[in-house]
Amino acid sequence: MERPNCPKCSHQKVIKSGVIDGRQRFCCKKCGYHFSVKKLGKAIDKYYVVKALQLYIEGISYREIERILGVSHVSVMNWVKQYKVKAPENYDYRPTYKVLNHTELVKFMAVKENLMDTGMVITELGDKFMVIKWERFRNR
Ligand SMILES: [Zn+2]
Repeated sequence: MERPNCPKCSHQKVIKSGVIDGRQRFCCKKCGYHFSVKKLGKAIDKYYVVKALQLYIEGISYREIERILGVSHVSVMNWVKQYKVKAPENYDYRPTYKVLNHTELVKFMAVKENLMDTGMVITELGDKFMVIKWERFRNR
C-alpha cells in the first residue's frame, strides 16, 4: 500500500498506526497528526491542491486559503513550492471572495450591480460555490 503524505502538514514520513473500521490508520512523524487513508483519497487531495493554487494565484493569503479550504497553510506553502507556482507581485487591486450555496449564488447573480464593473470567477468548492471578484475597475 502506498503511504500517503500527511494531510495536515504534507510531510512525507508517516508511520502505520493501527486500523480503524477496516481502514489503515497513519500517524505523521512530523506533526503527530493521525489520519486514515479513506479520508485522504488521492482525488480529494488533488482537488484541494488545485483550488489552493488557484486562490494563491488570485492573491489570497495562505491564512485565508487555510480558512476557506480547511487545509493547513503549511500544506499550501508546500504545494506552492512543489509545483513552483509564482503569483504575480504588486497587486494594485485585491480580490474579494464569497462562499455561497447554490440558492445564495442565484440570488447574488440576480442583482445586476454585483456583475457590473468587476471581473469574476465562480468555482465549485465542495458542495458550495466560491465567487472571486476583482474590483479594480471600480475606481477608474
Ligand atoms: Zn503532519
